[in-house]
Amino acid sequence: MRIAGRQVGAGRSGDRAIAVFNPHTGQPIGSVPKASLDEVREAFAAAQACQPGLTRYERAAILNRAAEIIRTRRDEVARLITAEAGLCLKDSVYEAGRVSDVLLFGANEVLKDDGQIFSCDLTHHGKQRRVYTQRSPLLGVITAITPFNHPMNQVAHKVVPSIATNNRMVLKPSEKVPFSAILFADILYEAGLPPACLSVVTGDPREIADELITHEHVDLVTFTGGVAIGKYIAAKAGYRRMVLELGGNDPIIVMEDADLDEASTLAVQGSYKNSGQRCTAVKRLLVHEAVADRFVEQVLDKTRAWKHGDPMDPASDMGTVIDEAAARQFESRVNEAVAQGARLLAGNQRRGALYAPTVLDRVDPRMTVAHEETFGPVSPIIRFRGIDEAIRISNGTAYGLSSSVCTNRLDYITRFISELQVGSVNVREVPGYRLELTPFGGIKDSGLGYKEGVQEAMKSFTNLKTYSLPWP
Ligand code: NAD
Repeated sequence: MRIAGRQVGAGRSGDRAIAVFNPHTGQPIGSVPKASLDEVREAFAAAQACQPGLTRYERAAILNRAAEIIRTRRDEVARLITAEAGLCLKDSVYEAGRVSDVLLFGANEVLKDDGQIFSCDLTHHGKQRRVYTQRSPLLGVITAITPFNHPMNQVAHKVVPSIATNNRMVLKPSEKVPFSAILFADILYEAGLPPACLSVVTGDPREIADELITHEHVDLVTFTGGVAIGKYIAAKAGYRRMVLELGGNDPIIVMEDADLDEASTLAVQGSYKNSGQRCTAVKRLLVHEAVADRFVEQVLDKTRAWKHGDPMDPASDMGTVIDEAAARQFESRVNEAVAQGARLLAGNQRRGALYAPTVLDRVDPRMTVAHEETFGPVSPIIRFRGIDEAIRISNGTAYGLSSSVCTNRLDYITRFISELQVGSVNVREVPGYRLELTPFGGIKDSGLGYKEGVQEAMKSFTNLKTYSLPWP
């Protein structure tokens, strides 16, 4: 791990280390230390003591240099992500590209000052003054906790806005994929980041999570991960700012006028890219009954053509899921749905952590596979009779992250945009479509409505001060 840039805990073994395994081969790829509470406190002390005070020019230069390093070392980055997460090379090369986009957007945003100016002669109480706004970094330290599914990009979405706003961060990556986070930190140090601005602590959340959330220096906790842990953090954090980006159960909604070739391509890509392990993966396929049979046939053809297997094979469209336990959970949810009347049309074969892309038709929205977040390559198809039913089914889970709607009818589109209880609606695109810059985040159990994306994260990582001057 890295405490203020220093390598700590190398060579630790036994019960003070966490072994990381390649999900495909089952071979160990290395181990990281389990941080002690004292080491976590050391990271906070170093962060609190550091006041980066970098100019906008200096911050942009660091982020631009890091983007350049990621681009030149793209294949090394991708192979590391593939080795520890089991994602296929196509997915991890794509992820490396996203990471460099996050850095570039951070470098561009840091050059802008979004301060506002208000004239004070706006009402009959008006005065000849002006009110101004100005952002400053937090007084304390930011804790960032990240999930396994995008081992480097989730980390970038927290670290880059922190650097861009002159903050200090202690990051705890997922214990399943810690090496991508450590490599990212090393690249930033190499690019010129003052080391005390960023520590990466690895370890067992049962030992260190509470300290990461409640340490006296922590001003803000930014967390991406599952709902259960997000709600635990919300209860634990007390009087602290929190940004929670939690699970999703996103639909693709296919109306009767949809281009079925396009809709089925989006459904399949949305379901299986990144092994179906995206918060915004397509997790439910809602299709109008008038076109359902034709749509299902096309989804099936495209699922059968989706090549899954060795993640290191550049031709694979999909590697493994994160581990065998996850694959077994999908298998058991699919088996339960079949026992309750759903029809299995493809997939549901498992070998270790390899799980075949799976299509289930005639799914009832109350079945666990569709009602809960099934975080893997499963396509449960639900048929509906009209837009009212589609909206009701779509809104009928605890989640509210993103959505995709396939139609060209403006009357449908306007209803979906206003009535779907989600953070994003993408018309004729996958729910996961976004720029790394644009506001992104969910409502209901998917989040508290605060957004991520480089620009919004920079806002939530700063204190906004207003001041007024006695001149018009
Ligand atoms: P997870 O909730 O199991 O773990 C996330 C992180 O929390 C890990 O770093 C883990 O070590 C840590 N953690 C464990 N116990 C903790 C505790 N008691 N206190 C604090 N932290 C603790 O999630 P995961 O399985 O790694 O990731 C998958 C989940 O993440 C899915 O639900 C997915 O939808 C969600 N996700 C959401 C978004 C989003 O932007 N909304 C993006 C990606 C993933």
